[in-house]
Parts: sequence; C-alpha cells; structure tokens
Amino acid sequence: MDAIAVRGVRKVFGGTVALNDLDLTVTQGEVHGFLGPNGAGKSTTIRALLGQLRVDAGRAMIFGLDCWTRSVAAHRRLAYVPGDVALWPGLTGGASIDVLGRLHGGADPRRRQQLIDRFELDPTKRTRTYSKGNRQKVALVAALATNADLFLFDEPTSGLDPLMEEVFQQCVRELKNEGRTVLLSSHILSEVEVLCDRVSIIRRGTVIRSGTLTDLRSHTLTRVAAVTRHPVSGLDQLDGLVDLVVSTRPDGVHVGFRAAPGALGAAVGCVAAAEPASLTVQPPSLDELFLSNYRDEVPTALAEGAVR
Ligand code: ADP
Repeated sequence: MDAIAVRGVRKVFGGTVALNDLDLTVTQGEVHGFLGPNGAGKSTTIRALLGQLRVDAGRAMIFGLDCWTRSVAAHRRLAYVPGDVALWPGLTGGASIDVLGRLHGGADPRRRQQLIDRFELDPTKRTRTYSKGNRQKVALVAALATNADLFLFDEPTSGLDPLMEEVFQQCVRELKNEGRTVLLSSHILSEVEVLCDRVSIIRRGTVIRSGTLTDLRSHTLTRVAAVTRHPVSGLDQLDGLVDLVVSTRPDGVHVGFRAAPGALGAAVGCVAAAEPASLTVQPPSLDELFLSNYRDEVPTALAEGAVR
C-alpha cells in the first residue's frame, strides 16, 4: 500500500482551479520531493492530505485511509511542518513543542531533548520573542520527535540558516533509515537533490513529471559545444536537436547545440567525424531541469513517455 495516493483530485477556489486532475504517488519508505513554482498547488495538495479541505473530485489517501472521511485515523500516522509556523505567543518554545507533539500522539521525551540540542533551540523563551527560524525549529522538533510513519514538510527550512539546514537534512536521512516516509515540498533544489529518492513536479495544479532525478534528466536536453577542424555535416538532418549554432572562426568551426537523449549519440558522432579540437558535453543542471519543466521548454515529443 502506498503512503500517499492522490488520484484525479480537483479543487476549485471561486474561479481558480488550484488542483486539476492531480495524481501523486509516494511509496512507503521513500523521500519524495514535491516541486513547483509558487501558486502551482503544493500547499493545496498538502492541505487535502491533512484533511483540511474537501476536494471537488478524486481522492486523497494516506496509507489507504481517505484523508477527508478518515482524517482522524490518518492523522495518527502523520506529522506536518508548514513553511510558516504560527505559534502561541504566550507559550514557551518547549510548551509549544509539547502542544504540537500531543496533536501527533505525544513526543518521545528523549528524542525531543536530542532534537532541541541538535537544532540549538532555547525552549525556555516565549515564542513571541522567536525569529521565523526559531518558530520553524519548534515545529520541526515537535514533528521529528513523534513516531509518525509519514512526514509532510511544506517548505520546512524557510528561515533556517545553513548549519540548521544541514541538521534538518541529517534528520531526514535518519527518518529514511528508520523506514519512514517523507513528502518534502521545497524550493531548495540542492536539498531536494541530496535527499529525495523521487521527485514530482507540479505545475498549474497538475503533476507533470514524476520519477527519480536520473529519470527526469533523461527527458531533458544535453548541451554540447565543440571546436572542430573540419565543417560538421549531418547535424541539421537529425531530429531532436535544438539551438544549433555554427560559426567558422580562425581557430576552427565552433558548433553548439542541445540534444535530446535519443539524438545525442548520433550528434556527437557527427562532431567526432569533423575532428574536434575541443568537446564539452554538459547534462542539464537541476535549475535548468526544473525551469524547462516550468516553462514548457522541452518539446512535447521529447517529454512523451515521461516516467510516472
Ligand atoms: P503553492 O503551494 O504551490 O504555492 P497553493 O496550493 O498555495 O500553491 O495555491 C494554488 C492556487 O490556488 C493558487 O492560484 C492560489 O492562489 C489558489 N488558492 C490557494 N488557496 C486558496 C484559497 N483559500 N482561496 C482562493 N484561492 C486559493
């Protein structure tokens, strides 16, 4: 049974379609990145999983439990950290951790203390004095100290400094080693890259890609640049090449293009036949990968058969 199964979910706010036939699958024990530009529908999806909003069509399930009709049972299995934590200004950080922890069936005291130490939180201060980062730490400690099977993190490290970001990453690795499941919505691509087994990319309320980073990369274009001794022939006959630029200069023929995975071998072959003096082949960076998905830059034909 999947930890998260969202099937065909639609949610409309007034005239705004926030979720449009959204599918999302997170298998048990995986750390799953949830990526998309602002307004794409990440928080709405997470709120549907939390049973905080009723979807107009489709179903959202956690461990086979319907998130709307079985939300109490579903909440026993999950812990949640939002990106902007609101606390009780008059309570101390420690008391806030306990209140939040109780929502999840109570925190393990030893684990709670270890996490307070690791996140370098002073739990004796009232939360009204806390910075945004400290409020995030309270929610993280409260969630991580529970025995939840599924952790829903919605931009959990916003406001944390890089050292604390590192602590968070270590905690997620430990959750994974314990066999727990994590859905991580994040703008920090490096965080997603190091932590996530699989990634889903959401745009305008629909998951448009889902797979491992290697899978996602295999549907994007590789940049090739070379300087050759002879003119390169055959490139313009290849399907799957874009941005082909050729210029003849004193030091040789400068050729550059971006190639779809299926065209890369043949294209590099054409370049090799023209005796390259230099050749660089550059896979897409994570930034390019996500930008291309957001901007529809990759032609639909190349994206066909995208891993689901
Ligand atoms: P993300 O978390 O990816 O930034 P959201 O899920 O917050 O995106 O928002 C998805 C879309 O739904 C946006 O267009 C947003 O303006 C809209 N939306 C979200 N919540 C509400 C709401 N309560 N009322 C009206 N529109 C909403």
